[in-house]
Amino acid sequence: MLVLLRPVFSWSLPRGTFSRRLSAAPPPFKVAVVGAGPAGLYVGYRLYEQYHLPLQVDIFEKQAVPYGLSRFGVAPDHPEVKNCQDQFRTVLANPSTRFFGNVDVVGHLDDSSLLLLVPLAPDAVELLATAPVEPRQQISLAALRETYDAVVLSYGCQADKHFPDSTKDRHPAVIPARQFVGWYNNAPEFKLLNPPLHKVKEVVVVGNGNVALDVARVLLAPTSHWQDTDMLPEAIDVLRNSTVERVRLVARRGFYDSAFTNKEFRELLDLLNPKKTPGTTVHFEGIDEAAIAQMEAMVPHMGRVHKRRLDMYRKFQKDVAGANTTTTRTWSLDYLLSPDLFEASKDDPQLLTATHFTKNRLEVDEALLADPAGPKTRAVSTRESQVLPLQLVITSIGYKGEPLPGMLQNGICFDEKHGVVLSVDGRVRSPAGVTVPGVYAAGWIKNGPLGVIATTMMDAFAVAETIIGDRENQEASRG
Ligand code: FAD
Ligand code: NAP
Repeated sequence: MLVLLRPVFSWSLPRGTFSRRLSAAPPPFKVAVVGAGPAGLYVGYRLYEQYHLPLQVDIFEKQAVPYGLSRFGVAPDHPEVKNCQDQFRTVLANPSTRFFGNVDVVGHLDDSSLLLLVPLAPDAVELLATAPVEPRQQISLAALRETYDAVVLSYGCQADKHFPDSTKDRHPAVIPARQFVGWYNNAPEFKLLNPPLHKVKEVVVVGNGNVALDVARVLLAPTSHWQDTDMLPEAIDVLRNSTVERVRLVARRGFYDSAFTNKEFRELLDLLNPKKTPGTTVHFEGIDEAAIAQMEAMVPHMGRVHKRRLDMYRKFQKDVAGANTTTTRTWSLDYLLSPDLFEASKDDPQLLTATHFTKNRLEVDEALLADPAGPKTRAVSTRESQVLPLQLVITSIGYKGEPLPGMLQNGICFDEKHGVVLSVDGRVRSPAGVTVPGVYAAGWIKNGPLGVIATTMMDAFAVAETIIGDRENQEASRG
């Protein structure tokens, strides 16, 4: 395969003293980064910080614009989280970086395919944020491996996780959080999702991780909360016309097992506390005490974080008791329920009428009682069922990593069970467990869909250091 990379902007060519230094120096270490999310851009950032010989970093990104979930995932009311983009801009503005947007990296293409890729100038990258989606070009991993000394797979987790019986949640009124989040964040593929919030009274969010809390804030907070954010304006209009009266966050296990972090829990409680956010008309129905009681025996074994979670909840209840407010919406945290059957509405193909849940009880793994992260529990079905009336479900049960099509033909092993590219210390492995030379993985596609930007950064830095170490060893062995 022939790959023709045609730089059209002068910034992408070595200039001035830089080019003189390059001409006397050895050829640059050429690195291709697949995916311009936090993982890929932090790998680039660290390479520039720590590799002191000539370097070229070419970044290939499926979207027209970079930054991955820090643009299309992070909630619009978390602008401070997006400050990481300042560091990403320094990577893109480096004269040795080229950004190729709207390019889908696939595992394998026919050898006859010929590509002409044009990198974008850093300022054009910013302007493209609202540009229409161009037809995407493709480039194969095989071509990247031929052209570059190192290839970094940092393409994140790009699919929705479904329930084990994957047919049961395929209904237009069962919306995966990845799509809902992409919609309000202006992600090109979900811009037209238009969830029917104008004809819905009761919504259930399944799962209670931090993404579920983001979704709950979007459904519950007043429209004014989003007004000065970068939320998609059409999404703000949909929220303005929302008829949602009740939001339940439903989890299969117990309160102490909640996947959200205390900081994000406090943020939601504060936002919906009339004493902290004057004018809020949202009422928290609280938590079923039976769900808390189920774990009471475990409390002595709980870590500080888990105990703090209960304290926060109790304190909130005390604080809002008697707070005089008109209620327009209610929300609750519901536990020990697993969805079993989504009942479609006969009148409106866009809606449900109810969802049947199976009630669970918790089983505690005695062997793990002393685990520093807290006791490990498992949801076990009681075979009893509970039916909740509702019209819309948002499933927030995690994102899912997928292989690039044809990846196996490149000798790269994808661990289907965990949805990750198989790697050890960032070095990608073949199905036989052998290191694939020059191919690395970083971020969510290496570790699974868990971790905040800071953890993704630490991971990316470690991978960049591995890449540099391998390069230096190769140079040393070449003499
Ligand atoms: P991603 O950010 O997904 O980046 C992967 C990139 O690869 C994307 O740009 C994608 O378009 C590109 N790509 C995919 N396939 C291809 C392909 N075939 N060819 C080329 N490019 C491709 N963390 C926080 O610290 N604070 C928060 O408030 C926060 N909020 C979050 C909200 C949501 C809804 C989610 C899901 C996560 C949130 N996180 C937050 C976590 C944070 O977003 C992740 O830790 C981080 O984005 C993971 O980075 P990544 O680069 O591995 O993946
Ligand atoms: P998550 O934290 O892993 O939560 C997933 C939720 O889905 C859990 O409640 C889990 O329950 C549930 N679940 C999974 N499979 C299920 C099934 N088959 N049936 C029922 N429930 C199921 O994932 P996330 O919320 O998508 O967040 C991803 C990462 O991004 C996290 O690391 C998160 O902290 C980060 N993030 C951070 C922020 C922030 O910092 N503000 C914001 C958003 C996201 P179990 O616990 O029982 O498995």
